[in-house]
Amino acid sequence: MKRPLVDGFGRVHRDLRISVTDRCNFRCSYCMPAEGLEWLPREDLLTFEEIERVARVLVERHGIDSIRLTGGEPTIRANLPELVGMLSALPADLSLTTNGSTLRLLAGRLADAGLQRINVSLDSLRADRFAEMTLRDELPKVLDGIEAAIEVGFDPVKVNVVVIRGVNDDEIVDFARFGREKGVVVRFIEFMPLDADKAWNARSVFSQEEIVAAIDAVYPLDAVERTSAPATRFRYSDGGGEIGVVASVTRKFCDSCDRIRLTADGQFRNCLFAIDEFDLRAALRSGADDEELTAVFEGAVAAKWAGHGIGHVDFIRPARSMSQIGG
Ligand code: SAM
Ligand code: SF4
Repeated sequence: MKRPLVDGFGRVHRDLRISVTDRCNFRCSYCMPAEGLEWLPREDLLTFEEIERVARVLVERHGIDSIRLTGGEPTIRANLPELVGMLSALPADLSLTTNGSTLRLLAGRLADAGLQRINVSLDSLRADRFAEMTLRDELPKVLDGIEAAIEVGFDPVKVNVVVIRGVNDDEIVDFARFGREKGVVVRFIEFMPLDADKAWNARSVFSQEEIVAAIDAVYPLDAVERTSAPATRFRYSDGGGEIGVVASVTRKFCDSCDRIRLTADGQFRNCLFAIDEFDLRAALRSGADDEELTAVFEGAVAAKWAGHGIGHVDFIRPARSMSQIGG
């Protein structure tokens, strides 16, 4: 008998995000400071065996049916395909979020190891702006990485675009066109207050309403009925595919959130914006059995808040930034 992870508001948790490293080869301004962050010491990272054990207990005992690997940049963790192979043996959908810069080398090996779906983050199609936003002059590599993901047959390939007012909001229609031409699903993401520089302010958020209006004026869109997934979906009226918008700030979807998170250093989180973490690494390394791991999961999920309070006076930013939590 499975023991679903249900919180005090009746939300059943099915979706696990695993950060495999806090390191990254890029420096996206909305995520990481230009000088980088202090990386975790190697011994603090969960091993592949520890990650697999946590995932297995969550899938087998608690009915988690979707796992996404993220970071930091997950593809710079050595031997990532090996971990993918271990996790793909579990009965859960397995996907990856990456900045795409290493996909030409890795896409085939990841697919062979059992990875099913991939999201590539890309915030500008202009080389100069891409370099300014990531502090790396690697737009051609990322575009080639997206091609590699398509060639290998990941379906769908999604492209994540964080839209920031005054930075890249003039490229929304270019991204829509890019998605239609390449046959990839573009997902526009509202800028969230999880940047290490703490430069976020409400004015810099380009809202779902503004994003959809910009595209609809050129390529008319129809709304698709909402599910528990974070993205609101819209289809092109002419059958040219679809887009998604993750409106975490202006239309928060906490009521239907079914996500839990494991950080690279083995902390279990019940929300992206959680202030508290639950120390799974200590439990794993002190010989906890599955029932003791279950006690950590159930305690953490029971403590989940109704939702985040971005924009409210009592909102408290998490101490760690997006790349450290695992976006
Ligand atoms: N390095 C990988 C990548 O960039 O896809 C995976 C980790 S990254 C933290 C995961 C996702 O979080 C990316 O799509 C990124 O654009 C998004 N992200 C990072 N900081 C964000 C912020 N402050 N607001 C909204 N999305 C953010
Ligand atoms: Fe790295 Fe991804 Fe953060 Fe960019 S968004 S700095 S690629 S972790």
